[in-house]
Amino acid sequence: MQRDIVQPVDIEKYLYFLKKPGRYTGNELNTKTKQISKKTLNFVLAFPDLYEIGMSHLGLKILYSILNKHPDFSADRVYAPDEDLIELLKEKNIPLFSVEDKIPLNQFDIVGFTLQYELSYTNILLMLELGQIPLKSKERGDSNPLIIAGGPGAFNPEPLADFIDAFVIGDGEDVILEIADCLLKNRDSKREGKLLALAQIQGVYVPNFYKQAVNKKGSYVIRLREDVPERITRRFFLNFDDPNSIHSPQLRPLTDIVHRRPSYEVMRGCTRGCRFCQAGMVYRPIRERDMKMLLEDIENDLSLNGWEEISLNSLSISDYSCLQPLLLSLLDKLPETETSISLPSLRLDSFDDTFQPKLGKLLGNTVTFAPEAGTQKLRDVINKNITEEEIINSVKKALTMGIRSFKLYFMVGLPEETDEDIKGIIQLIEEIFEISPRRISKINVSIAPFVPKSHTPFQWVAQLQIDEFLRRILIVKHHFHENRKINIKYHTPEQSQIEAVIARGDRSVGRVILQAYRSGAKLDAWDSSFDHERWIEAAENIEIDLRAFLGEIPPENPLPWDHIDSGVKKEFLFSEYRRSHEVLTTQDCRNGACSHCGICENSSPKYSQKYNDEERAESRKIKISQEVEQRFFYKIKYAKGDNLCFISHREISTLIYAIVRKSKLPIYYTKGFNRHPKISFGPPLSLGLAGREEFFIISLKNVLEKREVLEKLDENLPNGFVINEVIPLGSASEKKYYTKELLRISSNACISWNKFLEYKNKSIFSGRKEKLIYLKDFFEDVKVFSHHVDIQKKLGLNIFQILEEAFGFSREQIGTFSIERIKIF
Ligand code: SF4
Repeated sequence: MQRDIVQPVDIEKYLYFLKKPGRYTGNELNTKTKQISKKTLNFVLAFPDLYEIGMSHLGLKILYSILNKHPDFSADRVYAPDEDLIELLKEKNIPLFSVEDKIPLNQFDIVGFTLQYELSYTNILLMLELGQIPLKSKERGDSNPLIIAGGPGAFNPEPLADFIDAFVIGDGEDVILEIADCLLKNRDSKREGKLLALAQIQGVYVPNFYKQAVNKKGSYVIRLREDVPERITRRFFLNFDDPNSIHSPQLRPLTDIVHRRPSYEVMRGCTRGCRFCQAGMVYRPIRERDMKMLLEDIENDLSLNGWEEISLNSLSISDYSCLQPLLLSLLDKLPETETSISLPSLRLDSFDDTFQPKLGKLLGNTVTFAPEAGTQKLRDVINKNITEEEIINSVKKALTMGIRSFKLYFMVGLPEETDEDIKGIIQLIEEIFEISPRRISKINVSIAPFVPKSHTPFQWVAQLQIDEFLRRILIVKHHFHENRKINIKYHTPEQSQIEAVIARGDRSVGRVILQAYRSGAKLDAWDSSFDHERWIEAAENIEIDLRAFLGEIPPENPLPWDHIDSGVKKEFLFSEYRRSHEVLTTQDCRNGACSHCGICENSSPKYSQKYNDEERAESRKIKISQEVEQRFFYKIKYAKGDNLCFISHREISTLIYAIVRKSKLPIYYTKGFNRHPKISFGPPLSLGLAGREEFFIISLKNVLEKREVLEKLDENLPNGFVINEVIPLGSASEKKYYTKELLRISSNACISWNKFLEYKNKSIFSGRKEKLIYLKDFFEDVKVFSHHVDIQKKLGLNIFQILEEAFGFSREQIGTFSIERIKIF
């Protein structure tokens, strides 16, 4: 059955009064160009947390790109709404909508969630309910979308089995197209038929065709019918060298998010074998990307988007065979744009000595190490193959490179941990600090409570109780409370406890999630929203004992995720578990013997794939940018359209930096650590206003024709951002100060604009001190026309507050107004 696409949700008129409306307006750079239609199979990719977190997620961007490249499929996106939008949607009975086309969730064919973190699961229920989709799979009919979920959380799907129609186990690149093809072919089938067809695809688990069985030892899952697989085998994506596996240019948000940078996956998988790490097990084998392809991709993305920072991603980036030549090449290319590189924790000993001086430039001011445990014994228990000597040497090297600040990650509550190991954390931090108390400016230590995860050697291990976690963490925290250079932070044990319950939960935990959601749980990953008591009460109310999911599991017991085949054999996990008891380490199979984890039997892997790049041997010189003293100034006049009115002044400034970076103009950069183009901006435009004649001033190293400057700036601008004019200012910056603005307020509705003529009698209370302000002191001229009013006023005072409080317009009325700054003078 083809789905009727309804009208988009009319949300614009309500956005004015939301905290950060820009996160619901779409308008990012490099979004899809095709519209959702009845002809295409329409996906909405859902990230169950706020936009600021979800917009950085690479997996979602990859699936978005794959689906939108295909002529028969389309994909939009949706992120969890914040409290203010939740309230608004409920109050006005507006369904949650996709960010680009503003289509209600219930009008899509497929809603695809990514499962990155157990504490975001209540947000899935929230988004379904706000999207006006029944929460439980069994309550949905043919007219409802199919709800699909993938990502690391899908490796134990059972806590969400009641809510999700189909899970994708493993890499999504190939299987997403198989799923889409299958659903397109079965578009006219009943829901059950579609699900049965999906269950035939390798890596797809349809929980409705399975049930939970329980015996004295525990719960496990069995199939209800013969025509679905007994075990679901994960999917592997191996074509990393295929140019089609590149998904650039990446979406570039206009608003501030947690990590505003494109992420380039240099390698997937890790065989180091840390026994606590689920990603290290379920993302095997190692698959490296070709360095030349990566470089081309990065260069292309930079030239289109002018990123100020890029990030290279991998579980263990130091293991990428071509890391040194890759970084050298990037160092060669990036000075032009002053783009910096963000790297996850690095092993500094993986670089040869000739590279060390250049590395300092790359790493910036902070280096991160993840010893995880404080003693060698415990590091051997968890198979973290790093010695204290290596850590100390790395810190010494970093100091010689000019790095002064360090981040250290530890876990507490690891199996076999004693108070000696907690003291070991203290000793290791002290030893690092003692290398040079004077030169070290900061050591930020982050301590996380250990959470046992499915499909790892520690899946059978008990989690510590909250009090004991706190006792161990506070030993470290109190020890350093007088040292201002050492800052100890820790992850809340209460959150880690609920994370552990869900991570090893069975279908009954789904009832706890639902009950917690019903009693108000949402946005639980955020400390400010998480309420531990609510979860405890939810479990008590439905008589589920959470302790059952926190204790040690005897290895002979069945596990709720035994029907999910991650490719890594259970015998291997168990042998690693045993070796941890005996404090025996296991070598990384990339450098040592195969430990028969099972992956190579399943995937014809390229675990030993390494690129012998000639460039590794080449010594390449880094171009040192020449200091140019002479500067030439250009005033750039631009218009900011209605569709960008919810992008704040700061966010527009960041966008302008990007436009200037990618323009290839001979731009003058600021000096210092965080170098950026030298730009001065015009007076800020309030959030919610369009601008007809805004401006910024750039400094160039050479004189250029206006036309040339305009052409270079004019490429790949976001919708609604128009460059109107380039005015050379000669060799000195324009020193004009702006104090006034002309605003135009218009509306399609019938508005009595004459009331604005009475402004002289109006006043509002403004500012933190609620000072009484008379509009006659701010307004200089008001002209009323049939469909609009022009107000010339001094800069300052929020026009929305004036409209609401001085002229008595309701918020909904104001939402229908178009407000534009015509001029500043
Ligand atoms: S099967 Fe052996 S070589 Fe292959 S990934 Fe596992 S441990 Fe490494």
